Amino acid sequence: PAPAPLLELREARAAYDAITVLHGVDLTVAGGQVVALLGPNGAGKTTTLKVAAGVHPVSGGRLLLGGRDVTGVDPKDLARKGVCLIPEGRGVFPNLSVRDNLLMMTFTGRSRSEIEEIAFTRFPILGKRAHQLAGTMSGGEQQMLALARGLATDPAVLMLDELSMGLAPLIVGRLYDQVAEIARQGVAVLVVEQFAAAVLDIADHAAVLVRGRIEKQGHPDSLRHELAELYLGSS
Ligand code: ATP
Repeated sequence: PAPAPLLELREARAAYDAITVLHGVDLTVAGGQVVALLGPNGAGKTTTLKVAAGVHPVSGGRLLLGGRDVTGVDPKDLARKGVCLIPEGRGVFPNLSVRDNLLMMTFTGRSRSEIEEIAFTRFPILGKRAHQLAGTMSGGEQQMLALARGLATDPAVLMLDELSMGLAPLIVGRLYDQVAEIARQGVAVLVVEQFAAAVLDIADHAAVLVRGRIEKQGHPDSLRHELAELYLGSS
């Protein structure tokens, strides 16, 4: 049986002022699943995540969490219900140490030691770098720290925007292996990428967004050809 949907966008529309950028997006992510949302620059991928996190309002359609309508619910209430967005650029504090970046997450009610255990168990390198300023680490390590900060919130839904940005393919592959592992523990994972290869290897389902519309969705393998054409055509 298919796992129950955790995060659902139904016919979601969104606009910036008078300009509509999402024209009715349908997307479902179940616990334990990695869903990849792919598409060219400006397609509306980041806006889709912002809508799902409640930080950008829908101008039509609905947002559901665990089957409940949460359209219009405050982002901080969605965060309390386990919705976590790791933004493009990672959102770590470059002038704070790794440890301090993690300790800020005690706002979640978790203790320092719990948070460090979560972080250092999944990413041992962060333990070794605990006293280093985050901004002096490699891009891959900073992305690990961003993921660790997200995990500290005990997310039910984890959303990642352009995790691969500026990273070597080998590093991206390793990070996505960790993301797949996180999903395997029951988290619903929604990943946005402009270029797809690495995430298609771990995604259970993929959707292609073009100009605010889902052009196609299905098994990642069924979309490889489509994506190749899209990128060759748009470059
Ligand atoms: P990218 O890969 O470049 O981040 P994207 O697929 O994530 O692209 P969005 O960032 O969601 O796309 O942008 C969708 C559209 O909305 C684009 O046309 C963009 O110019 C526009 N847009 C995004 N943010 C704003 C904003 N704050 N104000 C006005 N228009 C915006």
